[in-house]
Amino acid sequence: MEPNRKEYSLETLAVRAGQERSQFNEHSEALYLTSSFVFDNAAQAAARFSGAEEGNVYSRFTNPTVTAFEARLAALEGAEACVATASGMSAILSLVMALCSSGDHIVSSSGLFGATQQLLGTIMPRFGIQTSFVDQTDAAAWQAAIRPETRLFFLETPSNPLTAIADIAALVSIAHRHAVLVVVDNCFCTPILQRPLDLGADLVLHSATKYLDGQGRVLGGAVAGPRKLTDEVFRFLRTAGPTLSAFNAWVLLKGLETLQIRMQAQSAKALQLAQWLEQHPKVARVYYPGLPSHPQHELARTQQKSGGAIVSFAVKGAREEAWKVVDSCRLLSITANLGDTKTTLTHPASTTHGRITPEQRAAAGVSEDLLRIAVGLEAVVDLQNDLETGLSSL
Ligand SMILES: *Cc1c(COP(=O)(O)O)cnc(C)c1O
Repeated sequence: MEPNRKEYSLETLAVRAGQERSQFNEHSEALYLTSSFVFDNAAQAAARFSGAEEGNVYSRFTNPTVTAFEARLAALEGAEACVATASGMSAILSLVMALCSSGDHIVSSSGLFGATQQLLGTIMPRFGIQTSFVDQTDAAAWQAAIRPETRLFFLETPSNPLTAIADIAALVSIAHRHAVLVVVDNCFCTPILQRPLDLGADLVLHSATKYLDGQGRVLGGAVAGPRKLTDEVFRFLRTAGPTLSAFNAWVLLKGLETLQIRMQAQSAKALQLAQWLEQHPKVARVYYPGLPSHPQHELARTQQKSGGAIVSFAVKGAREEAWKVVDSCRLLSITANLGDTKTTLTHPASTTHGRITPEQRAAAGVSEDLLRIAVGLEAVVDLQNDLETGLSSL
């Protein structure tokens, strides 16, 4: 078997890449639930610890099931290497701790996942790492925010929850003129819809908790890119410890096998739902990159294979009306998670973005009338009927 052949299509790599069969020749990937690994003799133990010999030592460093997941995700992202982490946030933390030092500076999009915003905006400054937040659709603002000590551009595209699109190639060309690395959180699109490394980005990161698992079961994260950079993340990770568990890696391997069909089906349903919402009399605005009314629709068409599966919309009204729609739903799950086969509904201003300051919320455009739907695999008509109950009562 040659599971990693580069000429294989994404759907083939998603099912096959990264598997190393054991002496038992298992068909499904083996799950290695072991914290440590045994050496043949003292000399081998010394060689493994010093790094002179490759091989597993301890599952905080490497584990074969985790390695298989890393190899599969690397193949999908077109990356030389990948390092898996315990969650998406630990991927971001590890990346910043590995690549930045006190005194360094980051430029980031202002419309960020809430915890990322807190990590970069509130926690990292205590360690001397400052972040400037800019409108991710405004390339001139990114350029203007660069300082001599700027180390990273950090961007999420499409953004959460407003699905603003950053022009990855344009930001890469600005960053690289100043020796700044570009990091893309590819959580919303996954490599099935968007491959940032192909557009020149230096690193891609994931909350594997979302679409890579796809069924809301486990937490996980990853950083993928050239080995020179992922090795630095790995050195932090093996010492500090936010490593992916073997069990979660095994679940995620299985998630990757259905990633393409899920992303295609969920995106198609999201487009239908967005079109329905856009013509609804109780809906004020719809944010979905697959709609011609989206301000970066043309950019999304060139950068992404489809609009993705996240649809946000503003109801006519404010918090009270938005909550009324949420509370009328019997099918959609009221939960902040996304990327699941079960459709989820969130009021970002009071949940995912509830702990950032009102100013940060305003900068991110997270208003009180806004709802976010992460479209799953149910029939669109059932989703529409569920939302209609609340919307028609407004
Ligand atoms: C969920 C999420 C994260 C954080 O991932 P966890 O696995 O929850 O730690 C980071 N970025 C984006 C865009 C997310 O949606």
